Amino acid sequence: MIAEVVKANDLIKSDPVFGQPSFNDHEQIVFCHDKDTGLKAIIGIHNTVLGPALGGTRMWSYANEWEALNDVLRLSRGMTYKSAISGLNLGGGKAVIIGDSKKDKTPAMMAKFGEFIHSLSGKYITAEDVGTTTPDMDIIRDITPHVTGISESKGGSGNPSPVTAYGVYMGMKAAAMHRFGTDKLDGKKVLVQGTGHVGETLISYLAKEGAHIEITDINEAKMQEVAAKYGAHIYTGKDIYSADVDIYAPCALGATVNDDTIQRLKAKVIAGAANNQLANDEVHGKILQEKGISYAPDFLINAGGIINVYAEIVGYDKAESMRRTENIYNTTLEIFTHAEANGITTQKAAMTLAQQRIDDRKKESAK
Ligand code: NAD
Repeated sequence: MIAEVVKANDLIKSDPVFGQPSFNDHEQIVFCHDKDTGLKAIIGIHNTVLGPALGGTRMWSYANEWEALNDVLRLSRGMTYKSAISGLNLGGGKAVIIGDSKKDKTPAMMAKFGEFIHSLSGKYITAEDVGTTTPDMDIIRDITPHVTGISESKGGSGNPSPVTAYGVYMGMKAAAMHRFGTDKLDGKKVLVQGTGHVGETLISYLAKEGAHIEITDINEAKMQEVAAKYGAHIYTGKDIYSADVDIYAPCALGATVNDDTIQRLKAKVIAGAANNQLANDEVHGKILQEKGISYAPDFLINAGGIINVYAEIVGYDKAESMRRTENIYNTTLEIFTHAEANGITTQKAAMTLAQQRIDDRKKESAK
């Protein structure tokens, strides 16, 4: 999350919106406020060349509005590249609601937020994210059609996390193929950080394949439950980043590959679900490359969720979503090959491929 990367003091020196560190030629930034419900939200529309800007709504107790703004700018940009590289006809957008989802969120607030989304006439389509849920999306659906991730009973695609986990698993296998010459994970030591919705399903795939699974989570009860269910080992070392494992799978929070951790990493592969795993794409991508650590770009391998909700828009079925998600394996391998051939980082290779698709579409539309 950007809050961990850009500190408030740095932000105040910049111009309020277009001068923010995370501003990246975003098309539209919408500030939403409603006194009665206490709603304070920002919708970031990064790019709509490939289609409407789809991305979830995050509700978080940001320390201040600058952090919220930078988070939405960074996350919405990430969505542009995630959809582009996944071959979806979607642009990139994201929304943040400032507040504690456990204390401040009300149905009235969600309904009001739905009105703001509706006012954008489909240019932005929302979904759930950290701090928002399927029932929240159902409330928004009563106000506007521009929402995905609603309940299956209401015609939605349901919880996207299992599909995300399948994509991460595919990306991890492709990374293993590149690094170890085999995509078989039996006997491989995998550290999964975060045993939540995505982490748990990923662990189930790893367990089925016979991987040696180490897990860590700040939620002790969930960690114990997952350990017992899948025969995973709770990591007992002092420092998870220097754990002697083959694969590190960040499935909790972003920016865990940073100045502080990167030199301690012993894993040979990094492949996980968390968004924005590299605190700095260029700097940390390069160091990973120099250290010979194969990094499967997060926005490529965690795209299963967006592929799944895209089905709600275009109307394809679960089997097609899974087929497209399975294809993450091939795209990840392509990225490793391209990066190696050109001496660039995998992050750069993936960004270039995504940008190429956007540029091509722009050229076609200009004809
Ligand atoms: P989740 O909230 O269900 O699970 C996250 C888990 O991480 C929780 O169990 C939490 O206790 C744990 N955690 C938090 N801080 C931690 C820490 N410092 N160390 C160890 N564990 C910690 O979230 P999720 O839906 O499983 O998503 C996991 C990650 O993947 C998030 O970063 C999310 O943004 C990203 N992601 C999720 C999806 C999806 O479909 N759910 C899609 C794309 C990306």
